Amino acid sequence: MQKKLLLLSTGGTIASVVSDSGLVPKESGEDLLKLLGEIPYDIDVKDILQLDSSNMQPEEWKFIAEKIYEYRKDYDGIVLSHGTDTMAYTASMLTFMLQNIEIPVILTGSQVPINVVLSDAPDNLRLAFAAAASCQPGIYLAFDRKIMLGCRTVKVRTTNFNAFESVNVPPVARVTSDGLIFNNQNHKKDKQPCILNTDIDSRVSLVKLFPGFDPKLLFAMADSGCKGIVIEGYGLGGMNYIRRNTVAAIGKLIRRGIPVIASSQCLYERSDLTKYEVGRLALLEGAISARDMTSESAITKLMWALGQGMDVHEVAEFFDTDVANEVTIE
Ligand code: ASP
Repeated sequence: MQKKLLLLSTGGTIASVVSDSGLVPKESGEDLLKLLGEIPYDIDVKDILQLDSSNMQPEEWKFIAEKIYEYRKDYDGIVLSHGTDTMAYTASMLTFMLQNIEIPVILTGSQVPINVVLSDAPDNLRLAFAAAASCQPGIYLAFDRKIMLGCRTVKVRTTNFNAFESVNVPPVARVTSDGLIFNNQNHKKDKQPCILNTDIDSRVSLVKLFPGFDPKLLFAMADSGCKGIVIEGYGLGGMNYIRRNTVAAIGKLIRRGIPVIASSQCLYERSDLTKYEVGRLALLEGAISARDMTSESAITKLMWALGQGMDVHEVAEFFDTDVANEVTIE
């Protein structure tokens, strides 16, 4: 029997057309399917949004999560067409909002609109449907012949077709001339039911350190209502403490009940605050390591944790926990 799949369309370049004001998403999900041609699945389509993904925000994440939750019982898999610019954030947040999802949910999009003859959209959509028909349950991103765990993806190129990478874990599957070749899908086989949980607190900030950064800005954020901060430190996660004392500022924030997550500016490999003094001091002040998570995953995990009402200690424990393979806990 053919797999029953659902395409939820939300806009993005894949659905965009040229207008006087630049590319704007206008094509419907049906338009996307029409341009795709024959594929061996039974596909329903629902247009739920029509946005450039730069306009996707927590309100849209909640709405998308609710739609996936609502429709998941009727389908073997769901494909979410989405702009590429914030796709990795949406994929990461859906991972936390839809824990234990019972079906595969595959985000995809394209670098070139589907109505352009050499667009990457048909290939990406075909891959996403194949993934929705064959992956284990979970949230994935399918792009340029790779299927990746959604919470491990980062958009790394602005125009190349190879726009996404799976950071710190290999892709789940690749397209070869033999078809889809899966790596071991070592997902947790939790059989707990999926519970939709869209409670998040988006009053957070993501700060990239640079030499000369004034830590007083961190207090300005806290004074403006910021409830948690991810700081991308240097290398393994180091932070300056001479002249401008970022480390001490972090300690003060944490004592005010504001969790501070320390991640790395390096895209690849883990942060490890135990190795250098500039990391250890931050750890002593209570900084929480993001280990090998992407910044997209770290900031969405923090929003979700705060939305659950977790305090600093609970956030620290939560960041010591692997929810859906978003982090490697040695
Ligand atoms: N600006 C577009 C978006 O994110 C880019 C794309 O889809 O490739 O919606």
